[in-house]
Amino acid sequence: MENIKKLLLENKAWAKGHADIDPAYFENLAKGQKPDILWIGCADSRVPPDEIINSRPGTLFVHRNIANIIHANDENFLSVLEFAIRFLKVRYVIVCGHYNCGGVQAAFEGIENDRLTHWTESVRELKEKHNPKSINELVEISVCAQVEKLKSLPVIQEAWKAGEYPKILGWVYNLHNGLLKELTLYDPAVSK
Ligand SMILES: [Zn+2]
Repeated sequence: MENIKKLLLENKAWAKGHADIDPAYFENLAKGQKPDILWIGCADSRVPPDEIINSRPGTLFVHRNIANIIHANDENFLSVLEFAIRFLKVRYVIVCGHYNCGGVQAAFEGIENDRLTHWTESVRELKEKHNPKSINELVEISVCAQVEKLKSLPVIQEAWKAGEYPKILGWVYNLHNGLLKELTLYDPAVSK
């Protein structure tokens, strides 16, 4: 319980820190959000999206799950995507995986764990198809595959018919040095 109490104390200190620098900080954020980016990342505690790109609240609209996997029938993800594209009109969708991902490792090593096995089935299929030599190679293959899946989704196709956004990027994060690497970028304006 002490650890949980500490969270609340840290929150007070964090809020005070912002309010001391800019008394209107929270009121301005409360007026509404207009993020430019939908971030699709892994649930891993070591890859906090806002922190690794040094961004402030209001920058990223975020969806996270184990191994940043996109399923075309995942209602949770699809509602996030639809809201981000149709209402927030984000200009960029970033799929960010990370090396040494536990979810990808489970798929790579064929670890049996009912729900996780089911959830990572599509990553297992990528392993069968591409025969990667390492977990990290499969991480990269999977990020690129998620970008391809995004490109085929109706809400994205619909947005591209109306304009030149969103652009879709595939990145991977390195736990060992804190750096992001660009793997792929799909710009519909260039591809039209
Ligand atoms: Zn992960």
